[in-house]
Amino acid sequence: MRSLIDLSRDDLVGLLAEWGYPAYRARQIHGWIFGQYVEASEQMTNLPEPLRRQLAEWGSVWPLEIADSRLSRSGDTLKVLFRLADGATIEAVLMLYDRRRTLCISSQAGCAMGCTFCATGLDGLTRNLTAGEIVGQVLALSRQLAQRRDLATDRARANGSRVTNVVFMGMGEPLHNYGPVRDAIGVLTSPEAYGLGARNLTVSTIGVVPAMRRLALEGLQLRLAVSLHAPHDHLRIQLVPPGKRWPIRDIMAAADEYVERTGRRVTYEYVMLDGVNDTLELGRQLGRVLRGRHCHVNLIPFNPIPGQPYRPTPDGRIRAFAKQVEASGVPVSVRVRRGVEMDAGCGQLSTRFKLESASVMLQADGEAP
Ligand code: SAH
Ligand code: SF4
Repeated sequence: MRSLIDLSRDDLVGLLAEWGYPAYRARQIHGWIFGQYVEASEQMTNLPEPLRRQLAEWGSVWPLEIADSRLSRSGDTLKVLFRLADGATIEAVLMLYDRRRTLCISSQAGCAMGCTFCATGLDGLTRNLTAGEIVGQVLALSRQLAQRRDLATDRARANGSRVTNVVFMGMGEPLHNYGPVRDAIGVLTSPEAYGLGARNLTVSTIGVVPAMRRLALEGLQLRLAVSLHAPHDHLRIQLVPPGKRWPIRDIMAAADEYVERTGRRVTYEYVMLDGVNDTLELGRQLGRVLRGRHCHVNLIPFNPIPGQPYRPTPDGRIRAFAKQVEASGVPVSVRVRRGVEMDAGCGQLSTRFKLESASVMLQADGEAP
């Protein structure tokens, strides 16, 4: 199905011209889509009635709909399940902080990379998302942010209702779906569309080396996060199978190139798996590998997945590991657990939505539907 958000401003002007409407109508329509987050052309009340009808007949505004959503008890983490036109489902998570409203979005339905600790990886790839399906997640959650009264609203709305940060840390490997992800970033950062600063957008990758190089050449100030999870290839390949194709040395070279071209510090993500990749010796090795690089390490508490052997590293040992890395002069942060009670942490979207009905989960959580 066609969607209006798949059209650039120029495409939209062209379509309207075919129908005999002036170019300023495109600006109005984009105002509704990117400023008011309307989901149906019928709601664009300053357009002539025949144009609204014509737009509705032409296609949808967004190519997805919210099939389900869950809000954490504290009201500051909202997880959403989207249904796409062909029935495929993806997830996104909105996290509200004092000054930021960070949205974690998906780039693919499923993922082909097969990381052994990741719920998305276990299911394989269903398909790539289109640019509209990526942007649609941001618009739909912006609408939730603007309209829902049950979000932690004082903090959320204190400085506006827009999403301030977008991270590609939901389902999928963004650099395995390069074109649509690049196009979506174009729309999200265009002042005429969503208008987000590229600096507030993070692409997280397991290290698809050729695509990292390509991204470095785009001339964008995006944040790059590289999911490393091990300081040497032998261990890494067990956790991230594509590590066979893209060894750590090549990933580091591409990341260094990214730093050189963009001036931006790279984040290395490292999920803490009890007894697997969390020994102090591995912490020392990680420090040695990253020493002297313009980077920082983000340690991620593991979110357990049903049926998988991995266990989370206890907090005290995460801190000890961090100290080992820091001893090499590499800054380390530990990701705050968010929405863990409902498996909604960013980057750890679980398969629960598929396993249980949402109403059962809401009751189990003691939350009102
Ligand atoms: N495919 C990209 C982006 C999506 S995953 C990537 O892998 O970087 C985003 C982050 O969530 C990655 O760092 C990934 O390692 C992490 N992640 C995946 N499963 C997780 C889990 N069960 N617990 C904690 N972090 C997890
Ligand atoms: Fe894909 Fe990222 Fe999960 Fe690996 S961690 S399977 S790359 S989504």
